[in-house]
Amino acid sequence: MPKRKKTLTEKKREAVLKKKERELESLCKRCGVCCHIKVGLADGSYVVHPSQTCKYLTDGNCCSVYERRFSCDAKICFTREEMITKDYLLPEGCPYTQIRLGYKSARVVSQDEFDAIIVRELELGNYNILLANRVF
Ligand code: SF4
Ligand code: SF4
Repeated sequence: MPKRKKTLTEKKREAVLKKKERELESLCKRCGVCCHIKVGLADGSYVVHPSQTCKYLTDGNCCSVYERRFSCDAKICFTREEMITKDYLLPEGCPYTQIRLGYKSARVVSQDEFDAIIVRELELGNYNILLANRVF
């Protein structure tokens, strides 16, 4: 069956959507912090593990399985829309956290701060933290 030609309105809508997508994409700083493991704290918030990342994150903060990232076995990859919708999937400082009012970001900490957090969490009885629990 011959392919139906797109109407002018459809073409315009597509162009607008593409422009929006490009604008959104350009907000990403390519820092790779959203590809770090997030760890759940006793108070319900999350902290970004300073060094433990998805195994597919390269030294240059690129994804080595980008084309199949949503079906790879890392299972911590989310679409931008999902990350904006769900609190704590994005780290503080990520421009996408500004899109939804009241977004709660995962806290970014140094290794020393993270070590202190582990001690405090253990005192609170949050033993899950020892697993560097993969909550997302
Ligand atoms: S944390 Fe935000 S800015 Fe950094 S790579 Fe992830 S989406 Fe992009
Ligand atoms: S698979 Fe997902 S979480 Fe892992 S490096 Fe690639 S984009 Fe990041």
